[in-house]
Amino acid sequence: MLAEFEKLSREAAAANEDYPRYLLRLTELELATRQSNALKNRIKQADFPVQKDFDTFDFTATPSLPKQKVLELARGEWIDRRENTCLIGSAGTGKTHVASSLGLAACRQGRRVRFFTAATLVTLLEEKQKQYQLDRFLTALDKADLLICDELGYLSFTRAGAELLFQVFADRYERGSLLITSNLPFSEWVQVFQGERMTAALLDRLTHHCHIFEMNGESYRFRESMKKKRPKDTPKKRPPKK
Ligand code: ADP
Ligand code: MG
Repeated sequence: MLAEFEKLSREAAAANEDYPRYLLRLTELELATRQSNALKNRIKQADFPVQKDFDTFDFTATPSLPKQKVLELARGEWIDRRENTCLIGSAGTGKTHVASSLGLAACRQGRRVRFFTAATLVTLLEEKQKQYQLDRFLTALDKADLLICDELGYLSFTRAGAELLFQVFADRYERGSLLITSNLPFSEWVQVFQGERMTAALLDRLTHHCHIFEMNGESYRFRESMKKKRPKDTPKKRPPKK
């Protein structure tokens, strides 16, 4: 209001607007600014690796992913119901893209989101434990309405690391939503969580209320790079450096 009141008052005087109308416009502007700042903060807090949204996602390129169901999830009600989502598929099939799009949508709805790769999350958990700050960190994670854990399965963890991650996942059961992406089918998660019992206990909770999508097919990255290489007979040009 401080930043805008002079300009608005000049405009109001010029347009012959009365005080109530001027005050209303000033208050509306303040509210809109607050809302947009809050959204920016939520997106910053979420810490997405990329800010990819559904507007750039081509559902026809990932036919195994049901568009209607995914867009339904983008409305965020599953987060109110504290359900989970798993995106399972090989590299380059759009898992991170969809995960951040769903996360962004949740931020826009006023929900708190945190995005981590599984490896980062485990490293952080181990660090916080060493610094006697684990409880504090877990409380902070608990505040998120949606916790996104990307790339589960690329790296395996130490037993202690796996136990910490298990604790985070298990704690959220029916209390907060999880979105997990993995290149591994559930049957192979035992490699990550080392130990049949822990894996079974985890999958039992995770999949109880869960939207599971298999995103199989050729890598989008690979397809795109092949497209650029065609047509075959054109002379080779070096791609511009990024
Ligand atoms: P994954 O996490 O499954 O390995 P990504 O989400 O990182 O895959 O996708 C790899 C790249 O391809 C990203 O730049 C992503 O934006 C793009 N991509 C993947 N699938 C699609 C799609 N269906 N439409 C548009 N871009 C896509
Ligand atoms: Mg990814």
